[in-house]
Amino acid sequence: MADCLFCKIVEGKIPAKKVHEDELCVGFSDINPQAPTHALFVPKRHVATTNELTAEDRELVGHLTVSAAKYARQAGFADTGYRLVMNCNRAAGQTVFHLHLHLLGGREFTWPPG
Ligand code: 5GP
Ligand code: ZN
Repeated sequence: MADCLFCKIVEGKIPAKKVHEDELCVGFSDINPQAPTHALFVPKRHVATTNELTAEDRELVGHLTVSAAKYARQAGFADTGYRLVMNCNRAAGQTVFHLHLHLLGGREFTWPPG
């Protein structure tokens, strides 16, 4: 999608610190980290929000989770714990409208979230 920030990161037109890449998704460090490790896992194909997902995207969304979990293990906090978050639309605070899974790790988290 021409005017999408994360499409541009996927295409390498905007720089980002990539932590993961395969045929379906890219993982890169968040520019404004909310934890010692804060990475975003995004599908290479543009999908705006979870509302646009269909049954055909089941593998894609599962793949984002598997990729984030793999990186959590590499980063060393898989056993201690970490948080995975997908914000959808305004009330949840979504600001970039290209689907992304936040991986936050390296500190303690509280529940419920803000
Ligand atoms: P959201 O609020 O939509 O769930 O999360 C969007 C995330 O994208 C935020 O955590 C924000 O810091 C991050 N972000 C926004 N612009 C950029 C950017 O240009 N580069 C990177 N790496 N992250 C960004
Ligand atoms: Zn996009």
